[in-house]
Amino acid sequence: VSAFADVPLAPPDAILNLSTMYKSDTSDQKVDLGVGAYRDNDGKPWVLPVVRKAEKQIADAQLEHEYLPIAGLKSFTDAAAVLLLGSDNPAIVDQRVVSFQTISGTGANFLGATFLSRFYPKGTLVLLSDPTWANHKNIFNSASLETQDYKYYDPATLGLDLAGMLSSLQDAPSGSIVLLHACAHNPTGVDPTQEQWKRIADVMQAKGHFPFFDCAYQGFASGDLDRDAFAIRYFIERGFECSIAQSFAKNLGLYGERVGCYHVVTRNAAVANQVRSQIARASRAIISNPPLYGARVASTVLNSPTLLAEWKDSLRFMSGRILDMRAELRRLMLEKGTPGNWDHITSQIGMFTFTGLNPEQVNYMVKKHHIYMTKNGRISMAGLSTHNVQHVAQAIDDVVR
Ligand code: PLP
Repeated sequence: VSAFADVPLAPPDAILNLSTMYKSDTSDQKVDLGVGAYRDNDGKPWVLPVVRKAEKQIADAQLEHEYLPIAGLKSFTDAAAVLLLGSDNPAIVDQRVVSFQTISGTGANFLGATFLSRFYPKGTLVLLSDPTWANHKNIFNSASLETQDYKYYDPATLGLDLAGMLSSLQDAPSGSIVLLHACAHNPTGVDPTQEQWKRIADVMQAKGHFPFFDCAYQGFASGDLDRDAFAIRYFIERGFECSIAQSFAKNLGLYGERVGCYHVVTRNAAVANQVRSQIARASRAIISNPPLYGARVASTVLNSPTLLAEWKDSLRFMSGRILDMRAELRRLMLEKGTPGNWDHITSQIGMFTFTGLNPEQVNYMVKKHHIYMTKNGRISMAGLSTHNVQHVAQAIDDVVR
């Protein structure tokens, strides 16, 4: 008899399951709005031209494949910190930022969770937005941290429940860790305005909460890297110490290369050294040292003024295509006179829209119209194109009537 005979079967991953269903659907009308990956107007993955150029430079340079240091490729992690914080940020100038290369954003969240679970007082809660990225609870719980929801999304307005959010933060135990999406909130597409971020910072400062930013979409929300980093820079300016999980999966299209960083902004350089030494121990146990290739690609782009400028064009192009699709989908809903208010399609931002469709309506979208989306009514805007947006609008019109 197997030692594992009593292992309970875990539920299948909702998103990966959706991809499998999409692949086995033979309809020529099928549309994949499930997965959060950029697609071009023909529904194909898009390798950024700067990535191709960087890859060519790397191939031509005939580099070695030696191990990286535990903290990763320094030319990459330094440039990644500058991208988030700005080169003249006092935290960088004062050398109080700790940066570690990680296995993309997921690894950054996990490394951060592992560090905090060891060095924050036992019992400290991690507050997660309701709803949030499906993996957050999984990651923080895996690192033995307890999680609790804070109010975020208001189904009545399909927007931010600011009052609810502020009172959740107010009611939570002082000194809690608060997971904040830096921009392009997943799954709702609902971000606080700059004014609302200030109110959130006020409450968090009064309560002594610790901000943990998850930044998986910098440059992908507004098309502007600096603008999308507003919240992070603002909190640091206000004097917060904080953690940041950074991913280059979406903005550089390096999904499978697993390129990311975990940063901690500390009070001073001495504390930074202490923190760095302990994160090194933690990361050594998990991955020993991070993978080289994707970090080289990102470093090549980030450290070349020409490639950096070209990357910014690509970010504007990708986010622009998504904004066009938002405008077109909303226009079609209005043209059809579909019951309900569809303003949220254009007021939400980033990769995703929370349509407001209920699970039964989603089921119809999948079964009757071959449009694949998650049960919570989330659609990936990158899956829309000029070829399929009519079909999607027609299907939404059909299921809400
Ligand atoms: N955090 C959020 C909010 C995300 O949406 C994602 C990806 O979907 C990630 C983190 C991590 O992604 P990755 O590990 O591919 O960088």
